[in-house]
Amino acid sequence: MGITAIATAAYIVASLLFILSLAGLSKHESSKSGLTYGMVGMGIALLATIALTVEHIFDLDDLEMPWLPVVLMAGAILIGALIGLWRARIVEMTGMPELIALLHSFVGLAAVLIGWNGAIGGPHFDDVAAEDHGAMIGIHAAEVAIGIFIGAVTLTGSIVANLKLSAKMKSAPLMLPGKNLINVGSLVLFAVLTAVYVARDAKTDTTGYVLLGVITALALFLGWHLVASIGGGDMPVVISMLNSYSGWAAAASGFLLGNDLLIVTGALVGSSGAYLSYIMCKAMNRSFISVIAGGFGIEAGPADDTDYGEHREVNAETVADMLTNAKTVVITPGYGMAVAQAQYGVAELTSELRKKGVEVRFGIHPVAGRLPGHMNVLLAEAKVPYDIVLEMDEINEDLADTDVVLVIGANDTVNPAASEDPGSPIAGMPVLTVWEAENVVVFKRSMAAGYAGVQNPLFFRDNSAMLFGDAKDRVQDILAAIH
Ligand code: NDP
Repeated sequence: MGITAIATAAYIVASLLFILSLAGLSKHESSKSGLTYGMVGMGIALLATIALTVEHIFDLDDLEMPWLPVVLMAGAILIGALIGLWRARIVEMTGMPELIALLHSFVGLAAVLIGWNGAIGGPHFDDVAAEDHGAMIGIHAAEVAIGIFIGAVTLTGSIVANLKLSAKMKSAPLMLPGKNLINVGSLVLFAVLTAVYVARDAKTDTTGYVLLGVITALALFLGWHLVASIGGGDMPVVISMLNSYSGWAAAASGFLLGNDLLIVTGALVGSSGAYLSYIMCKAMNRSFISVIAGGFGIEAGPADDTDYGEHREVNAETVADMLTNAKTVVITPGYGMAVAQAQYGVAELTSELRKKGVEVRFGIHPVAGRLPGHMNVLLAEAKVPYDIVLEMDEINEDLADTDVVLVIGANDTVNPAASEDPGSPIAGMPVLTVWEAENVVVFKRSMAAGYAGVQNPLFFRDNSAMLFGDAKDRVQDILAAIH
């Protein structure tokens, strides 16, 4: 059996492993095996692709030094693998989304380069009848233009997402005048330019390259504009949307390279990313079309300069008293708990209070933290029992009967403006209705806004009190006061 046949079989095995991986990742209990399937599948895919490429290089008759491209490829794989290992080892859990955004940008860049390579190299006519060559040239040209377009949108969109997530760029939405027209106009222009490029006979003359150059520049601009126009609160959807785009970019590259595995894997990533975006949009009461179209139809509300009055401060001893005298306590963690790594102290506090007969439960917002499931992972890591960790929808109606709510490093996900102020940038997003409880204690370091950059009226409510400082330190202070 030749290498090509073995590689084809390996590609089928890898595709199946990727499907098993997605299925495994959809549940807590099977997520570890899901990861293993994915890693084994990727290992097989890599080995098969390297073997195919090496065979192809040694088959080329006119190559004088066939070992040179092989050595170059080995060097590139080694350098890439070392950088990947190093980044994965040092990345903090809170830095995962920005790393993922960066990785999506690489897929976009690869698709752009493969597209340009396909444009310069032209189509391969192996196994194609002579009378079909004309149609092949047209299909190939369309693949080149579409591949470059999706790749370039993914590239700049992911770079902007990375900058926004790492706070190197403001998370507030960019509001260029006529932003919807810019987006729709760019798409129409792309369709026209692609039609002209495909219809022209010559593809590798100056005009052909200029057309492709304009398509590339247009897509780079559109990717930047789409993501820059989306506000901080909608970033979780943007990440899954870019994940989807990166899948389609990979599938487009698969068509150009004639690589079936890339087409299958790209389609899997593209469709699962699109479905995840849809689920997240539903959970956050956002229009799917509006978010994928760069905040289409969302106009900026007036700046919030409302005077909410004075906030009240408490100290750890008072909070310890409140907690030990309470019957029911709900903890709503957010991004700040992850930053402070306060989950272990929170778990200890939970078990101390439970020992004293206090009912303690957790309320988890679907986009709390910076990753889907971020809080669940942290609490599981600190061995908080699963059965007291509830989703937002499961806990919201009990909050009115709760004695004390501890808001630990959460902000946007407990902001009443989302349900009470139609002009707020996060208006309509479902939130944990913590203000309905008898007492609310907010753990944070300052009065600063959350990720969406929106002021939070919760902090000024009569039943709210601020416990300032690092969440981990304050939880330890409460534990010390309880003991
Ligand atoms: P927020 O980002 O709204 O707020 C976190 C709060 O934690 C801040 O107000 C900050 O206040 C506080 N904080 C930070 N460090 C500490 C610390 N060491 N100790 C105590 N407090 C601290 O968090 P939420 O979890 O409520 O909301 C998540 C936001 O992130 C949403 O807007 C969501 O859309 C967005 N997002 C979510 C993603 C996801 O997939 N889950 C992905 C991308 C974005 P201070 O600085 O004053 O301490």
